[in-house]
Amino acid sequence: MTVLNLLDQLNPEQRQAVESDAQHLLVLAGAGSGKTRVLTHRIAWLIAAGLASPYSVLAVTFTNKAAREMRGRIEELLETPSHGFWIGTFHGLAHRLLKAHHETAKLPANFQVMDSDDQLRLIKRILSEMNISDERVQPKQVQWFINQQKDEGRRAQYVTSHGDWYQDTLKDIYVRYEELCQRSGLVDFGELLLRAHELWLENPELLAHYQQRFTHLLVDEFQDINTIQYAWLQVLAGNKLSMTIVGDDDQSIYGWRGAKVETIQTFEHDFPGTHIVRLEQNYRSTAAILDAANAVIANNPARLGKNLWTEGERGDPIRLYAAFNEQDEARFTADEIQRLIDGGTNPNDIAILYRSNAQSRVLEEALIHSQIPYRIYGGQRFYERLEIRNSVAYLRLILNRQDDAALERIINVPTRGIGNKTVETLRVVARDQGCSLWQAGLFAIENSVLTKRAANALEDFMLLIADLEEAITDLDELGKMVKTVNEASGLIEFHEKEKGEKGRARVENLQELVSAVQSFAGNDEADTPMALLGQFLGEASLDAGDRQADEFEDSINLMTLHSAKGLEFDQVFLVGLEEGLFPHKMSMNDPGGLQEERRLAYVGITRARHQLTLTYAESRRLFGSETFNSVSRFVREIPGELLSEVRLRSSVSRPVSFGLQQDMAIDHAGLSLGQRVRHPMFGEGTLLNAEGGGAQARVQVSFDDGSERWLMVQYAKLEGL
Ligand code: ATP
Ligand code: MG
Repeated sequence: MTVLNLLDQLNPEQRQAVESDAQHLLVLAGAGSGKTRVLTHRIAWLIAAGLASPYSVLAVTFTNKAAREMRGRIEELLETPSHGFWIGTFHGLAHRLLKAHHETAKLPANFQVMDSDDQLRLIKRILSEMNISDERVQPKQVQWFINQQKDEGRRAQYVTSHGDWYQDTLKDIYVRYEELCQRSGLVDFGELLLRAHELWLENPELLAHYQQRFTHLLVDEFQDINTIQYAWLQVLAGNKLSMTIVGDDDQSIYGWRGAKVETIQTFEHDFPGTHIVRLEQNYRSTAAILDAANAVIANNPARLGKNLWTEGERGDPIRLYAAFNEQDEARFTADEIQRLIDGGTNPNDIAILYRSNAQSRVLEEALIHSQIPYRIYGGQRFYERLEIRNSVAYLRLILNRQDDAALERIINVPTRGIGNKTVETLRVVARDQGCSLWQAGLFAIENSVLTKRAANALEDFMLLIADLEEAITDLDELGKMVKTVNEASGLIEFHEKEKGEKGRARVENLQELVSAVQSFAGNDEADTPMALLGQFLGEASLDAGDRQADEFEDSINLMTLHSAKGLEFDQVFLVGLEEGLFPHKMSMNDPGGLQEERRLAYVGITRARHQLTLTYAESRRLFGSETFNSVSRFVREIPGELLSEVRLRSSVSRPVSFGLQQDMAIDHAGLSLGQRVRHPMFGEGTLLNAEGGGAQARVQVSFDDGSERWLMVQYAKLEGL
């Protein structure tokens, strides 16, 4: 594509931003106004116009998926492959830097990224080693504390102590945590960023090298940048590099994780010569959707203030469905989605968004029941599944015996007679000797620290790891390596013995891991299959579930509102709009928290292109208890004329538990609510609920076996008793 064609796809303001020759550029604009598009086109334009080379551009996106999409778009625009590009998340880029300069960063070549589960386990271990009970100091609190310190760029030694026991203890734990991570070659997410930042500060010549190399830094979703990320960028940018940042203060939704929206405002002062561009035309949503989004966000005070408009059509009103309960909400959503798919909508263009991860289960059940394929984006991620983590832990330990977290995870999986007591002994030895658990194992065997039986079991385990290493060292392909480890470790057999669907799914997942590694290309820095395996393991922890989304058949998308940032779908179902759930009860009574919830609502609404459907449930069973919440204030903030209530209940009554209209007759069936019925397959039960009429009439029956089912009256052959 020529330079001119490239610019043709932009409006005048966007074009001005793309072509800007200002030293620094800040694009401040609302949702769907083309910020990401401007960023992508600017990269392509800089290269096409000869102002930058693919090697001199560094672009930061918010998710790995966004990075892949941006790469794809640039390749399309430039019609060249994008191998050399540095496009990724802050974490991904930091990982790449640390791998390339591991010695300078004082890390082993095969350092591993720890995810938050590994991190929590390590913290628990430290607490038990320090004899601090979980009641006095909660492991999650420690985790939060450590992550927060790292996000602020603070090492343990700089944590100030006020002489109170709790703060001092947190500091001591942090000190110990740093020691253990360093010794085992483990790096948590916050550490990636902190260490990449220190890499600049402590190695001016390395910094100078990258400042020479890069000419342009570009950042998407700048409103959610945290302190350490910004510091890293600032140091890299120095006073030479050109920065382009795009963001929307109304979409700042990670304040709870340390993101600082004020950075958008300070940027201008930190980088003199910043040119500000505002984009106000929205290209994504219908006018109805945009008006609703504008009306909701208008309730937040102290905004930078933007006025979004669209040339697009008014579109359908926003649909609102009041469900009886969460089951009804899920069923309604699944039915509507089925209707859309039957009408020709591509499932990929449909999304269900919710506030909390736990809401997905009921929705999933309804989708499975309706046989609608779905994927959960960023939820129960493939690499977070137990069996995958076990397999990955074997691989990690094979590559690095000092990886204590991996060793602890699998030392007795599958069960091989190594009890907690043995592990506890190893911990004590490791602490006394200042060594890893693996070395502690060797020591314990040599010095007869353990009972004969325990020592034998441990020795077998250590031999197994050594054997596995030998078995895979000469294999020429990652897939074969992982397959060998899955089988020879006994993991496959272990899960095959598990009864039912669960075991089967786990075996399938292990097989899926083999396919995942087979399609892993790595980069050219890996010169042996073992090195490639190391790269894969690093990415597996970073990338988490992103990978799965690309591989499956057409399917609808389920995700939390937080994961939906930057994405767009023709059809959006925003579910669970109840006070207490959304806005979340934890944030409802704190003004700052409530405003962040409202921004989240704004993000959710503005994901929709053609149609938005909102639902709420009058009663909801969640986290094991039943609640009755009123409709969310965010729904009430949408002007009535933009909303249209969906009424499926023309001939519908409420569940018996509401005590209403119990004796209402249902079309054609001669049945009434509360009546006892018999089904040829499911047996006897009580009629709970009904809706629709004629051929569409459906009833909900609570069967005596404990199941609850919706049945089409026409086919169900229900017999009144
Ligand atoms: P968000 O704030 O949600 O991240 P954004 O500002 O990054 O949104 P984009 O995702 O870049 O917005 O653009 C929104 C949609 O509008 C995309 O589908 C994009 O292709 C389209 N779009 C943007 N600008 C134009 C344009 N000038 N002409 C046609 N379509 C456009
Ligand atoms: Mg965007």
